[in-house]
Amino acid sequence: MDLSYGAEYEQYRGEVAAFLKANWPLEGDEAGLSHAEQALVFRKRAIEAGFLARSIPKAYGGSEQPADALRGQIIREEFGKAHAPGDARGIGTMMLVPTLLDRGEEWQKQKWVGPTVLGETTWCQGYSEPGSGSDLASLKTRGELVGDGWVINGQKIWTSGAHRADYMFCLVRTEPEAQKHAGISYLLIDMKQPGIDVRPLKMMTGTSEFNEVFLNDVKTPKDWIVGKRGEGWLVSRTTLKHERNSIGDASATEALFKGLLDLARRSKRGGQPAIEDPAVRQRLGEIEGYMLSHKYSGYRQLSAQLKGENPGLIATMNKLNSTNIAHRIAKLALDLLGDDGMLDPQGQGALMGMAPKGAPGWLSQYMSSLGVAIAGGTANIQRNVIGERGLGLPRDMAVQRSK
Ligand SMILES: Cc1cc2nc3c(=O)[nH]c(=O)nc-3n(C[C@H](O)[C@H](O)[C@H](O)COP(=O)(O)OP(=O)(O)OC[C@H]3O[C@@H](n4cnc5c(N)ncnc54)[C@H](O)[C@@H]3O)c2cc1C
Repeated sequence: MDLSYGAEYEQYRGEVAAFLKANWPLEGDEAGLSHAEQALVFRKRAIEAGFLARSIPKAYGGSEQPADALRGQIIREEFGKAHAPGDARGIGTMMLVPTLLDRGEEWQKQKWVGPTVLGETTWCQGYSEPGSGSDLASLKTRGELVGDGWVINGQKIWTSGAHRADYMFCLVRTEPEAQKHAGISYLLIDMKQPGIDVRPLKMMTGTSEFNEVFLNDVKTPKDWIVGKRGEGWLVSRTTLKHERNSIGDASATEALFKGLLDLARRSKRGGQPAIEDPAVRQRLGEIEGYMLSHKYSGYRQLSAQLKGENPGLIATMNKLNSTNIAHRIAKLALDLLGDDGMLDPQGQGALMGMAPKGAPGWLSQYMSSLGVAIAGGTANIQRNVIGERGLGLPRDMAVQRSK
């Protein structure tokens, strides 16, 4: 099995590395800009050079490159090594932009895609409600068309970044008479208006990254709807088709594992480096096995994409695997840290392909690993999807009952 990318791609890797050498980190006056400003300057250059926003048409602020999963992967690898800003992360670029490109009106694409891709405009995702998480289609927030606009009332919960977001893309029940899934519309809402009450929820890390959002007679224009009335469920699913340039990337997991090995070398067990302890070695070996299978499963996803095939459930499996492995790594790290692992959690844990620094960072990483396994559909729900669609098992009884 030859896992190298081949001469043409290695030459491309050289071009990416040369661009990074010339453009990151910023120099001169630009080096004094804030981190967000530097990222903006750099992203504009990287888009112009064809390295970022590759699947986005030029008309909407992207670099419009032919779909090539391998080039996308090389860019991610090289940008990661240089700690350079990649495509603006966040729910807006990952979920709203692909949805608008697929289902949005021309004016919606012109207005929102470019600034979102650059990270200038930020979004939050208003899907979950109290009582409607895994069973999302049971959501109750109502939207009524009054004159030339929608009036929205209800409550969203676990809304990440709502306290910073400029807009929310939101699932709202607009056809109360219709069947569960058919009664939902996909609306866009300006977050800076009266009637929106954002209340931060404190997480166990001590930070407040998600919120409750109360919507009381909130207004949005009639045409700030993506797709038609009652098509919101379908619209929210289209995002999944747009993963052509992404793969189940194992590099973040590998970076975490390297950090764990480093910790095992530095920590002591009975006066010896912990990495010499057979019980620790056994757990490390087990994690490394999972990690390597995740990495090769990522290559399977990549190969399928290169052949123009739909990677299907491999992507779901990779997400499930990466959250499981990240949790195992953080758990072993806490065991190695002993009492130090009880220090106040700090920061975000792993960032930009680097393992956490110090005991508080590992504790934060451990706590976040629990949340990541829930966000975007819980691990159990993903197992259901793999079982039902991949293995052909009968549908979940609870889902059948709720229809
Ligand atoms: C860090 C984080 C960020 C989030 N950000 C956002 C956001 O920005 N916007 C947003 O809309 N939502 C967000 N969420 C919410 C997330 O999508 C929901 O928490 C998730 O879908 C689960 O819903 P729930 O919390 O209501 O749990 P429930 O659906 O009540 O599930 C509770 C437990 O029951 C299990 N379960 C439920 N149904 C089944 C079933 N049919 N079969 C097997 N097991 C089942 C689940 O796996 C889980 O263990 C975020 C969550 C987290 C943790």
